[in-house]
Amino acid sequence: MYSVVVDASRRVGWIEVICGSMFSGKTEELIRRLKRARIARQRVETFKPSIDGRFSETEVVSHDETAVPSTPVHGAPQIVLLSGSAEVVGIDEAQFFGLELVPVCEQLARDGKRVIVAGLDQDYRGRPFEPMPDLMAVAEFVTKLHAICVVCGNPANHSQRIRQTTERVVVGGGETYEPRCRQCFSPDPQPAGRLPSTPAPGMLVRS
Ligand code: ZN
Repeated sequence: MYSVVVDASRRVGWIEVICGSMFSGKTEELIRRLKRARIARQRVETFKPSIDGRFSETEVVSHDETAVPSTPVHGAPQIVLLSGSAEVVGIDEAQFFGLELVPVCEQLARDGKRVIVAGLDQDYRGRPFEPMPDLMAVAEFVTKLHAICVVCGNPANHSQRIRQTTERVVVGGGETYEPRCRQCFSPDPQPAGRLPSTPAPGMLVRS
């Protein structure tokens, strides 16, 4: 991981990026960091795009239903206007904000804020998903998380689309995507994968 020495007399901001595929725990990791900032009595503001109404309009909620209060915004510039005196700014589902999020995060960091951004780094075809590549380049810290491939059990770096659709952005959880590794991933929609019902060669099964 990393360590940061904070000189309280000089408020220096920075950018932390949390990226990875769907089901890799990005939002859980964002929530974990934000909760610890709150415990330290730092002023925290959290934002998410208003397109993402999956769970709650006013909270950032992970798949396992941990939550922190958040403000839904229509575009990245709103984040600058609404973050006010916050010392820590959390941003979830960053892939929905587009490239205008990059100068916004840089401005917040220049203003002395700790900016924590979570988002998908690849789209459903496995292509880099802006603005995450640009954010990773300008960030001080990058954490890449992985899910587990539902087909073979190896670390999963991809979100496999399991429903036929050609939109780049589809908001959805388990009914639309599943985590897959490089070998099991296809840019084209695939039937939902299953763990092999018969043990692979060399696997020992105990009852
Ligand atoms: Zn696999």
